[in-house]
Amino acid sequence: MNDTPPLPGSTPLSRGLTRRRLIAAGGAALLALPAFRSACAQAGASDVDVAIVGGGAAGIAAARALAAAGRSYVLLEAGEKLGGRARTDTAFGHVFDLGAPSFARGVETEGLAGAAMAAKLPLADLPSGRRLFIDGHEAREGGYDAFLATLGRARRDILAASDAGKDVACASVLTAPGDWSASVAALLGPLGVGRSLAELSTVDLALRAVPADDTTSPIGIGALLEALGAGLNVQTHAPVTLITNAGRLHMLSIAGQRTQIRARAVVLAVPAPVIASGALRFNPPLPPRLVNAFRAFPAGSIEQVAFLLPGNPLRLENDETVLPKVSGAADAPPPALLRARVNGTDLHVLSFGGAPAREIAQKGESAALRLSRAFLAAAFSPQAAAAVHEVVASRWSTDPLIRGAIATAQPGQGAQRRLFTEPVQGRIFLAGEYTALDSWGTLAGAWASGEVAAAKALRLVGGGPA
Ligand SMILES: Cc1cc2nc3c(=O)[nH]c(=O)nc-3n(C[C@H](O)[C@H](O)[C@H](O)COP(=O)(O)OP(=O)(O)OC[C@H]3O[C@@H](n4cnc5c(N)ncnc54)[C@H](O)[C@@H]3O)c2cc1C
Repeated sequence: MNDTPPLPGSTPLSRGLTRRRLIAAGGAALLALPAFRSACAQAGASDVDVAIVGGGAAGIAAARALAAAGRSYVLLEAGEKLGGRARTDTAFGHVFDLGAPSFARGVETEGLAGAAMAAKLPLADLPSGRRLFIDGHEAREGGYDAFLATLGRARRDILAASDAGKDVACASVLTAPGDWSASVAALLGPLGVGRSLAELSTVDLALRAVPADDTTSPIGIGALLEALGAGLNVQTHAPVTLITNAGRLHMLSIAGQRTQIRARAVVLAVPAPVIASGALRFNPPLPPRLVNAFRAFPAGSIEQVAFLLPGNPLRLENDETVLPKVSGAADAPPPALLRARVNGTDLHVLSFGGAPAREIAQKGESAALRLSRAFLAAAFSPQAAAAVHEVVASRWSTDPLIRGAIATAQPGQGAQRRLFTEPVQGRIFLAGEYTALDSWGTLAGAWASGEVAAAKALRLVGGGPA
């Protein structure tokens, strides 16, 4: 989730908060979808230069890079469709995302945005800042000032600890608590990366320097990724269960299939908690220090809850994100980020993080409805809460192919993230959000990591852009 304000040295989200400038939605449908030839089909389905495991943003980006380079490849996805943690839903008659709903565009001609624009897929700008609310009304300038001061102090505390080589829990280094401390802690922790600051490593959080999300798509981010994967050589319903090192080749076993896939290189783009769970085995086993690193990066929980609020009773702008002030009281309702009027419709989406998100994943929509009503009653009004009758909720943490939202380092383990950028057994290249050193936990980081892994695989198997 990329609502976490960046730490110093990156483009500050806080700048958006002070300005709250609304950018008109702008379509970005431009160039032609590149045609991909199915090189794997030519080579025989069981024999490829590169096998890519996992069809989320990272895997799709890797497959596109290999297709563009003219190498044989296959993209193996365990689920029924591509997209991974980007999934578009159409409940309530509207298009919305139950995973990542937005991303940071970065350089327009590169990365995910560049690919979408080249494929003439529509992008839209997001309102540039998140608004702060107190008791159902926007905070006054003084409230913004206090919030930003608290946020700045928290960032400095975390960076100072990291710079001093102290890899400890972020919560333990925060100084001078203030009126907005609970809001800042929620934004940096559970709402930003799915875990509380008590569970997050200073070194790992200081590493993350991501700009605020500024881009979405009217077709949904999940649908956008699926479109970017169209024309690739993909096998869905293909859960890889075992990767065997056979010298100059790796053999990939897929559940329910007799034929193994032989590949000269592997881009492994499944979520870190899936590898940590042992659902995917390796022969020989992964090196112990890598196994330990995976165990040191448990996934945080973020879950989305969508519902209708007809007639815009909260008087919010289209597609804006609102953070109601978080109470530090033990009996307070759970904090959440509210994305209002998705695509200009009556549909709203709440993001819960940490313990409430885990509850939603475990108990489903009854818990999601209860938590959403409690949030709306406290943050806005009992009337707003009563207007919500039905919700649709994600359950990422209990999905066996995902197992959480974002992989974060436990205190003391932040330095280990670098291990994920090293090749495994010389021929396996890890990709996915958790491998993106300074943009972990983001869609743009996942996409870029797939391109990086594909470039490494290409160096091994030989070849470049066709
Ligand atoms: C609720 C939520 C909100 C988010 N919000 C934002 C946001 O606002 N902005 C942002 O930038 N990021 C956000 N993120 C993070 C973003 O979604 C992820 O960083 C990104 O989608 C991860 O992409 P990935 O390719 O690394 O992994 P995934 O998308 O998880 O893809 C991995 C794929 O591997 C497949 N797989 C698993 N096991 C196997 C196997 N054995 N064999 C074959 N395939 C397998 C899975 O089915 C999956 O499709 C959010 C995440 C969540 C959960």
